[in-house]
Amino acid sequence: MQTITQKFNVEEVRKDFPILQREVNGKRLVYLDNGATAQKPQSVIDSLNNYYTQENANIHRGVHTLSQEATSAYEEARVQMREFLNAQHTEEIIFTKGTTDGINLVASSFGRFNLKEGDEILITAMEHHSNIVPWQMICEEKGAKLKVAPINDQGELILDELYDLITERTKLVAIVHISNTLGTVNPVKEIIAKAHEKGAKVLVDGAQSAPHMQVDVRDLDADFYVFSMHKVFGPTGVGILYGKKEILESLPPYQGGGDMIKTVTFEKTTYNELPHKFEAGTPNIADGIATKAALDYLQQFSWDEIHNHEMELLEYATKRLKTIEGLRIIGEAKEKASVISFVIDGVHAYDLGVLVDKMGVAVRTGHHCTQPLMERFGILGTVRASFAFYNTKEEIDVLVNAIERAKNMLI
Ligand code: PMP
Repeated sequence: MQTITQKFNVEEVRKDFPILQREVNGKRLVYLDNGATAQKPQSVIDSLNNYYTQENANIHRGVHTLSQEATSAYEEARVQMREFLNAQHTEEIIFTKGTTDGINLVASSFGRFNLKEGDEILITAMEHHSNIVPWQMICEEKGAKLKVAPINDQGELILDELYDLITERTKLVAIVHISNTLGTVNPVKEIIAKAHEKGAKVLVDGAQSAPHMQVDVRDLDADFYVFSMHKVFGPTGVGILYGKKEILESLPPYQGGGDMIKTVTFEKTTYNELPHKFEAGTPNIADGIATKAALDYLQQFSWDEIHNHEMELLEYATKRLKTIEGLRIIGEAKEKASVISFVIDGVHAYDLGVLVDKMGVAVRTGHHCTQPLMERFGILGTVRASFAFYNTKEEIDVLVNAIERAKNMLI
């Protein structure tokens, strides 16, 4: 759902992000680590400042003005998130700490409630550790089996094999929408439909998709969709779990405490309704409210404009990086987001990352919390450049020159 008021102009957009004006090691910052976390526009920073200077109060319980104002702002953010995701009900939007927290919530609540010995959870070979370890933990506890769908050398899921791995024992398929390491965009709508045919529920890890594409949870028919606001130009420490109302209603709470209860006696506690049942304790109020500022900011543009700009960056960067001798791109799926991982013969990723940082360029190096994926490709780690809509082709030129210089120093 878009409210388009501004035409996308990258130079104008950059002015909204104060950090992009700073220097690092005496050079203009070239920030290409958006997959790890995105920068924040001034409006998000202002929202945080405004909350602490004007609105700070605990929410949901107070009768005084400040508490009511803070509660309204927090709940408005939830309503806007419902629109952003095209969810049917506002109470399907649960505020969490982030993607990891959302997956742990589902693994714990859904897993404890639904898994029996011999049941199966299906993940894929390209999952982030956050979408592996919580499932391993709950499978171990319940005597369930964790199965892993394979990928090909381009970094795409082998769909026939994935579908064969979904059986009548599969309770849940947990799958990443866009791989943070490879950039692969997975056909999650099709996978969800196939999983549903076999009676399995699906959780989508949207950590890398929410910043890059329109997510319509109803069109996808996702049972759960999780992401972190800090990658969507919002604050750290707040994330979203979307879950279908009837499923969330059927599940037990994740944590106990204030706000998630209706009545408490020492003999018995009754639980609050959605979404509060899953939001025990004082939430991250300031950051929850600033979520609305991030969505307001993003919704000035159309997804097409953002997508077109990012695809231009991806194409340009891929072409330019391929001119570097000895450089090999890891992840060449047909459907890719603006993420490029690569290795260079004879160069350690870490050394390259440190040297290009001296030239003002921020890239990620290492296993990107996908160690099993590194093993699949027989490598220890990669260098990853991940682009946001505020990046430019000139910055890609700076990156390529920095890599050439660093490589000459290292070989
Ligand atoms: N899944 C994917 C695909 C990610 O890229 C990330 C962040 N790198 C996560 C999960 C975890 O996100 P967070 O650390 O914000 O919980």
